[in-house]
Amino acid sequence: MPVKRRSRGRKKGGKGKEDLVQCDECGALIPRSKAVRVTRPISYIDPQLARELRQQGAIIPTYRVTKYYCIRCAIHRGIRKIRSEEERQKKPLTL
Ligand SMILES: [Zn+2]
Repeated sequence: MPVKRRSRGRKKGGKGKEDLVQCDECGALIPRSKAVRVTRPISYIDPQLARELRQQGAIIPTYRVTKYYCIRCAIHRGIRKIRSEEERQKKPLTL
């Protein structure tokens, strides 16, 4: 069967079923290997204020937040780009 991607858009390989995760944007339930996982450091303090405080020697905590997105939302937000056929063939294992 001809497939668009070698991995069929997933990372599970020959594994059978796997856990579902919920998209943080739209709430859709998607398989874990198909979800796009993004970890970003976030700060609750205004960046300008944080810079000033850091110059004065204050230690500002940063938190890392991991979010899961379905592929539709990842493309909509620009996390993943739509690739041409040639590009998909170049790196078949990366999504
Ligand atoms: Zn979504």
